[in-house]
Amino acid sequence: MTALNCSNCATPLDPAFKHCPDCGQSTAIHRFNIKHLVHEFLHAFTHTDKGALILLRDLVVRPSTVLREYIVEGKRKKYFNPFTLLLLVLGITVFMSSIFHPMQGSESVYKEQIALAKSEKKKAFMTTMADKQAKLNEWLEKKMNLMVFITAPLMALGFWLVFKGKGYNYAEHLVAYLLLTCFLSLASSLLFLPLLGILPPESKLWIGLANLLLQIIYICYAYKGFLILNGFGDLFMVVIANILGTIFWLAVLMIFMLVYLIFL
Ligand SMILES: [Zn+2]
Repeated sequence: MTALNCSNCATPLDPAFKHCPDCGQSTAIHRFNIKHLVHEFLHAFTHTDKGALILLRDLVVRPSTVLREYIVEGKRKKYFNPFTLLLLVLGITVFMSSIFHPMQGSESVYKEQIALAKSEKKKAFMTTMADKQAKLNEWLEKKMNLMVFITAPLMALGFWLVFKGKGYNYAEHLVAYLLLTCFLSLASSLLFLPLLGILPPESKLWIGLANLLLQIIYICYAYKGFLILNGFGDLFMVVIANILGTIFWLAVLMIFMLVYLIFL
């Protein structure tokens, strides 16, 4: 049965329409039933060419095609909404972080200093710093998802500055980076985050470097097709853009941590 007006936005409908010409809602809207709910739920994840898992698979197998189609060619409806996917992935990040506590243990640097401190005054100062660092780590673990809002815009800034000549604007580089972040955040959450929590603090640096290496290889692979790069020099510029962006957000994070440790 087709309504005469769209049940979502009340636009008058032609009986031949399958979708509202104004808002796009289906004209065949009926009451909810369990069969329909199960279908909708599975649909969201597995629909042949639009599900969240399909977009994740495409981001693994052919990331440059996703970037070109979504950003350059305007095939937006073809893909699951990348911003929704990113929020889902960040939910997983926060969940994994609450289990594995990847930030814990970095205050052990202060414990050494406390043991070595010659004066009581220095000892007291180092104890306060260790407490503050532990509190900061706990906060950062809970807000692990917010890190993306600091890192992504600054990483995209690095790519935009390095590849200005390729003709894409800052927003387009940001969308590209957010799409790639869906895969990178998921890989970090499932692989590197548990390792940070399980392995001793001395290996944190190596885990961080392994994560960075995966990031650089993946982004080189994706950007090669997205910006149509060829040759070693062009790929080297992707590495430069990566390092530049990383320096940007590390600097912001360091300043933020220093301000917290010194003034608060
Ligand atoms: Zn409508």
